Amino acid sequence: MSEEISQNKVDIIVVGAGPAGVSAAITAARGGKKVVLVERAPFAGAKNMYGGVIYTHAAQEIFPNYKEAPIERYISAHSYVLLSENDSTQITYKNSLHKDNAFVAIRAKWDKWCVEQAVKEGVYFAPDTLVKELIVKDGKVCGITTDVEDFYADVVIIADGVNSLLARQIGLREDIKPKNVALGVKEVIKLSPEVIEKRFALKEGTGCAMEIVGGPLKNMLAMGIVYTNQDSVAVGIGASLEDLKAQKIKPYELLDSLKQHPFVAEIIEDGEIVEYSAHLIPEGGYNALPKLYTDGALVVGDAAGLVNNIHFEGTNLAMISGKLAAQTALEAFECGDFSSNTLCLYKKKLENSFILKDLKTYKDVVHTLYGRTGSFLTYYPDKVNEFFNIFTAADGQPKKEKFRQFTKHFFTKRSLSELFKDVIAGIKIVFGILK
Ligand SMILES: Cc1cc2nc3c(=O)[nH]c(=O)nc-3n(C[C@H](O)[C@H](O)[C@H](O)COP(=O)(O)OP(=O)(O)OC[C@H]3O[C@@H](n4cnc5c(N)ncnc54)[C@H](O)[C@@H]3O)c2cc1C
Repeated sequence: MSEEISQNKVDIIVVGAGPAGVSAAITAARGGKKVVLVERAPFAGAKNMYGGVIYTHAAQEIFPNYKEAPIERYISAHSYVLLSENDSTQITYKNSLHKDNAFVAIRAKWDKWCVEQAVKEGVYFAPDTLVKELIVKDGKVCGITTDVEDFYADVVIIADGVNSLLARQIGLREDIKPKNVALGVKEVIKLSPEVIEKRFALKEGTGCAMEIVGGPLKNMLAMGIVYTNQDSVAVGIGASLEDLKAQKIKPYELLDSLKQHPFVAEIIEDGEIVEYSAHLIPEGGYNALPKLYTDGALVVGDAAGLVNNIHFEGTNLAMISGKLAAQTALEAFECGDFSSNTLCLYKKKLENSFILKDLKTYKDVVHTLYGRTGSFLTYYPDKVNEFFNIFTAADGQPKKEKFRQFTKHFFTKRSLSELFKDVIAGIKIVFGILK
């Protein structure tokens, strides 16, 4: 072993201090290993953006004291909103017994708190340190080159997010394809806690997660979100990069149109924009999984494409994949084998967990939706609003006449062949999920 290795050698290096990296690092430290967690930003969370929801089951599994973290609001209401050009239909689910299913947290505060917990448990945190590349010797990953110095380890856990230059460097992943990512853009709009609670019909301290389709997000694979922080709301969109490119729409224009829709405009009225951010979201799912391990290295979280975009879940998959990768690394230490022969156990653990089970369940949904976005994410939301417009109007016109008109429109504005394709797509989606 060279002098350099003995000086800068630890057991496990984790690259990236997002939810995946910190969970891997803290799990490895709890297993008694010497761990370095490397982050390019000056503090964890500084460069990280997302919608806003953290799922309690994963948070609690990694941080049993998560309630001490800077939490904005516990989610008590989950809304799904269908927009048409001017109207909206909202379904809100409230379950007071499961108040702690999820909470809203701001990444700059949450990630920082998580890393503080990891440091308390023995993780060495190296902020402001950019990992330039992995050091590979005789086909085995054995360290990292940073802008500060080189570090060596028996296992490197790659948690550097959706772009993962490191996983690409060692051939575990291909370059990002536009159809496998969505672009998320988000604004944080300041409003007083009282106004937020009034507009969302919330009890003090509780929050709402809202997902939106249709309206200005028409004819593309795109969804909107509105999440409540303590004294601000996050309004954002996530849209397929391929669709944005093909339709030559700029993401901030799409966000602006969403904000101007009467439904959203009412929620954010008189609010002040205090933050704007954008980030890619892995969308490829199960069919686009990269190779998850190689000799000496494991890939976790967004770097491995582990996002369930149907349910807007990413942080929980990141945290639990980080934990499972670290557990695999600990097993590798027990048998003294850091090759793929042992590290392949990570994939088995993912397969046995909700992570790959869920991604497999939805593996064809996005692909099927791609061809039918004009139907499922535009035409039918429109029709739902049209139906409720008729159903709720007391305008002196006989109801039967209006329902007949609605049914006639429904079938004349949509050719039978299109309807047939929608039914087939719907069946494909349902059977794909249930099989
Ligand atoms: C618009 C949007 C909305 C979302 N909403 C939600 C939501 O509400 N709920 C949810 O659960 N998920 C959501 N997600 C997904 C979620 O944010 C991600 O799945 C999650 O953050 C992945 O965690 P990670 O640790 O794998 O990666 P990241 O959080 O991206 O962390 C990667 C870290 O690695 C660091 N890094 C990168 N390269 C290097 C390098 N070379 N050297 C050193 N450090 C490096 C980065 O600075 C960063 O800190 C959303 C995502 C987006 C974009």
